[in-house]
Amino acid sequence: MSDRLIIRNGIVLTMNDANDVHFGGTVVLDGDRIEAVLPAGESVEANGAREIDAETKIVMPGLIDLHYHTALGKGWSDHLPLWEYLQTCWYPMIRALDPESAYWAALASYAESIRCGVTTINDMYRQLDALAKAAEEIGIRAVLSNDVATDEHDLDTLADNAQAFENNNGSANGRIQVLVGIEWLPLASEELLRDARALANELGTGIHIHLNESLGEVEISMKMFGRRPTEVAYDNGILGPDCIAAHCVWLSDKELALMRETGTQISHNPSSNAKLGNGIARLPEMLAAGINVGLGHDAAECNNSRDMFEVMKYASLIHRASRVDASLQPAPDVVRQATRNGAAALGHETGQLIPGHKADVILVETNSTMFTPLMPGSVDHVFSHLVFAANGSCVDTTIVDGRVLMEGRKILSVDEDRVIREANRAFQEVESRMVVPELAEV
Ligand SMILES: [Zn+2]
Repeated sequence: MSDRLIIRNGIVLTMNDANDVHFGGTVVLDGDRIEAVLPAGESVEANGAREIDAETKIVMPGLIDLHYHTALGKGWSDHLPLWEYLQTCWYPMIRALDPESAYWAALASYAESIRCGVTTINDMYRQLDALAKAAEEIGIRAVLSNDVATDEHDLDTLADNAQAFENNNGSANGRIQVLVGIEWLPLASEELLRDARALANELGTGIHIHLNESLGEVEISMKMFGRRPTEVAYDNGILGPDCIAAHCVWLSDKELALMRETGTQISHNPSSNAKLGNGIARLPEMLAAGINVGLGHDAAECNNSRDMFEVMKYASLIHRASRVDASLQPAPDVVRQATRNGAAALGHETGQLIPGHKADVILVETNSTMFTPLMPGSVDHVFSHLVFAANGSCVDTTIVDGRVLMEGRKILSVDEDRVIREANRAFQEVESRMVVPELAEV
């Protein structure tokens, strides 16, 4: 059987440098790569390839969720502010995590993402062998990193992360990668940060870290290190083009300049920041400084949805509201952040539909009230609906590495009913093992 898949007659959003949109266009996939992207009128012979008629659908790059945690227990203790939540819920839960629970939680998390058109996740969590197994089976493109902290916090170590790299980096046709993950500054030391950079350089990989997420984090950093989080990260070599810094809500002007100087990638996670009461990132200043910014949902525990359409809407509305400026974050810019900016942050050949790139493609159904009215041939209308009107349920088909993972909203790669059952059981088992400590003062 041919490895080619021809998607005909769609509204093709290439997200390429020229921002080409082809109404009635064709996208040809060959194995794990995009073979051709053609405007209306340029046909291609089937020659035994499978064909999809995308007449009422938008064909676009899959979404990149640039800051992600597999989540086991969403909707649990979610009234708490960040520090209390981490101490009494998140850390106890991930300390009680075993490989089997992590595997089912990852499958449930990844399935929800695939349902919402996400083709790549940048997942910081524990039990990476189990996550890699889940990613391999369900078919999502997964960049994994550990939750590394200093030893007394009883989370992961750099040795765990090095072992996870050894076991999994480059597996599943290169779909699975491993970065060095640093939880955040309050659970780190300067020595740990320097060692993390040394390990990343030795392995030839990048770093994933939370930075400047909350005012509390900044205060703790001032107390522990006498400097703000991004200053400490800079001084210890963490920042750079291979570093993805999540949140960056409370950046000083000096810290913004350090991000710019080092070419650090930022994941903007506005709905998580809002839910946890952490504030609103200085996105307009980041963009004005030329920093590459992608989007992330963070974790279903602090969101509580993995729907990147929802994140896209937040990423526009929250800045318009807080700056009293409706010109901020126009829809095409937001879609760029959720596709090619995220891909650029990870150094991936995804996020654009161009020949030679990886075949990570989604089909969005426009034959719905969500997309009505839709002016024929209007690029602006398409982008507007994607960001402001749609939610993840508009995604009909999700393709990663040329493999169709969901079609007609049915997940094809795993038994979703079983995943839901087992993820529920895993949550109850882990919850029963959780040891919740007294809230620690720093
Ligand atoms: Zn996070």
